[in-house]
Amino acid sequence: MTQNPGKPVSPADLRALDIYEFAESGRQAAGALRVSQMPRMLAEVPAEAPERDTVFTWQGEGSTQPELQDDGTDAPQPYLRLAVHGSMWLMCQRCLQPYSQHLDVDATYRIVATEEEADEYPLDDDEVEVIVGSRQFNLVDLIEEELLLSLPLVPKHNVCPEVHESLLPAGGEGEAAEGGEQEAEQDVVKPNPFAVLEKLKSSGPDGKKH
Ligand SMILES: [Zn+2]
Repeated sequence: MTQNPGKPVSPADLRALDIYEFAESGRQAAGALRVSQMPRMLAEVPAEAPERDTVFTWQGEGSTQPELQDDGTDAPQPYLRLAVHGSMWLMCQRCLQPYSQHLDVDATYRIVATEEEADEYPLDDDEVEVIVGSRQFNLVDLIEEELLLSLPLVPKHNVCPEVHESLLPAGGEGEAAEGGEQEAEQDVVKPNPFAVLEKLKSSGPDGKKH
């Protein structure tokens, strides 16, 4: 029976949630977490990011599902469903500029009592993960853990922004991050692809006809 589905979970409760009670009474909760509340996430945000302390929203829902016991009877077992959505700034590994990465987590956990039980739990169902429950469960840690796992292995723009040629230092190529320094370090010995463009430009759009 759902008694108190809308009962709010206070920020303090979030780090000491009775996850068994949450599951058994089918509670739901939702909230927002700032990146600054998740130190390991914050460490991933580049210093150059326009905004470091972005917000993730989360929803949690407890439930029970009957499971066959060793003695042949069905007994309700605790589950948690967790969804987290939001964006954070990461450093693009291709163009070395910060970009905003959207992250989505949607996970279902079977709550078990001990680490041993978690290790033994048959993971024949890819959709369900296993967590060790507690009467003082740290939901913030779980959310942070899931977000860290959802980070791309190689963070990068889907399509890196093109740097307009007029913004490039003379002789530069297309991948400059912040202008001068990096370009200056490169000895550009290969033919400059922009030289061709410059030539066309200097003779005007109808260059061919001159
Ligand atoms: Zn990029």
